[in-house]
Amino acid sequence: MSVNFAALLFLVSAVLFILALRGLSHPSTSRKGNIYGMVGMAIAIGTTLLLAKPGFSALIFIVLALAIGGGIGAYIARTIPMTAMPQLVAGFHSLVGLAAVLVAAAALYSPESFNIGVPDDIHLRALIELSIGAAIGAITFTGSIIAFLKLDGRMSGKPILLPARHVINIALLAALIVFVVSLSATANPVHFWLIVIVALVLGVLIIVPIGGADMPVVVSMLNSYSGWAAAGIGFTLGNMALIVTGALVGSSGAILSYIMCKGMNRSFISVILGGFGGETAAAGGGEHVERNVKTGSADDAAFLMENASKVIIVPGYGMAVAQAQHALRELADVLKAKGVEVSYAIHPVAGRMPGHMNVLLAEANVPYDEVFELEDINSEFAQADVAYVIGANDVTNPAARDDKTSPIYGMPILDVDKAKTCLFVKRSLGSGYAGIDNELFYKDSTMMLLGDAKKMTEDIVKSIE
Ligand code: NDP
Repeated sequence: MSVNFAALLFLVSAVLFILALRGLSHPSTSRKGNIYGMVGMAIAIGTTLLLAKPGFSALIFIVLALAIGGGIGAYIARTIPMTAMPQLVAGFHSLVGLAAVLVAAAALYSPESFNIGVPDDIHLRALIELSIGAAIGAITFTGSIIAFLKLDGRMSGKPILLPARHVINIALLAALIVFVVSLSATANPVHFWLIVIVALVLGVLIIVPIGGADMPVVVSMLNSYSGWAAAGIGFTLGNMALIVTGALVGSSGAILSYIMCKGMNRSFISVILGGFGGETAAAGGGEHVERNVKTGSADDAAFLMENASKVIIVPGYGMAVAQAQHALRELADVLKAKGVEVSYAIHPVAGRMPGHMNVLLAEANVPYDEVFELEDINSEFAQADVAYVIGANDVTNPAARDDKTSPIYGMPILDVDKAKTCLFVKRSLGSGYAGIDNELFYKDSTMMLLGDAKKMTEDIVKSIE
């Protein structure tokens, strides 16, 4: 295959990736977006193989690797519960980082296979590219593993704050720059492995101080890092598709981080540098003293809702755990049949991954025009008779508005307390992901509906019917 034709095909796959991102930006076009992405990736892989013309034995290895990796990926994608998606994404990011380190090592030890020189005389540009790619890859690898452990609950979500951690991080960053320069000057593999070791440590240190409440931003930030690592390695390999794809992932991850930061009122710069939010997050204790709570039954909730003229549903992580989206849709249907106006309010960090609630509601065929983002619906709560909070907690917590010492202070919340009645469906008075108590449970206008989100919603539907 001629180089020009390959470049054209890479361009086609890049355009398909851009269309994929565009498609994924709205639930109604996301399936089409996924298909564009898959076709683009198939073209990119096919073109790379035709361009590289591997020998028969190498081809066998490549096909085997594709079959094993693809098989494991397909199995995981089919079996993973939606609630475990964030840790899965973090786990996959770590593999992208590791791949970048391994490709960089291969290029260093076998430069002739990559057309970047010979072992004693590797092109300077390639040395710079592979050292930066390996550094970002190693940071992504260990950072993503820590994020995986925290999101999967195998490691406490509480921030681990080392004394003088900013000084240590800056010293490690400086060491990293020194080793990148010395590797570029000497091509000495020892310097390469020093880069990898320092970057691995840095990856851990950047993520451990980040508290549970700030993890959403970390996931999208690591997504961005993995893209830049891939782009860096794309330069070493001279693979245009990898450069473009890496840059797309890197920049879209950065834009998403920025949007999430805005949603949580965090500083974008401090997120990129790591270790933000830890100081206050450590204060989140989660203990709560005994206080009066108004509890109710499904029948009470049914009575309030069918006599309401406006109901706003606020889904959160608990809806995903209970898989209550279909029951919720049924509830909305019976209410609408009785002339009640129903809409859904989605907080940008509700659930455990960006767009988590939108995906679940779309799965239950909730009409898109009933689903609203925080800024578009928040003013409506004051006119609502009922806010039906189903498995959400942190995203409604007034401490984010009123308590300066709270780890989530500054994060915009859904103003469910402004509705005439707030119905809170959850199994206990326990805290949410950020580990902090929620004052709303004890307000006069709140009625706690203690139970599983799906069961409770189904019971309310039965009661209304
Ligand atoms: P929260 O984690 O604050 O609260 C969820 C609530 O759901 C819990 O308090 C739990 O209470 C309840 N729950 C769990 N299972 C069930 C069930 N089967 N039936 C009924 N209730 C149930 O969720 P939110 O969506 O309000 O907030 C998201 C949090 O996750 C934020 O702190 C955010 O920062 C964080 N996060 C978000 C990410 C994202 O990208 N969206 C990524 C990582 C973290 P109980 O046990 O009493 O039932």
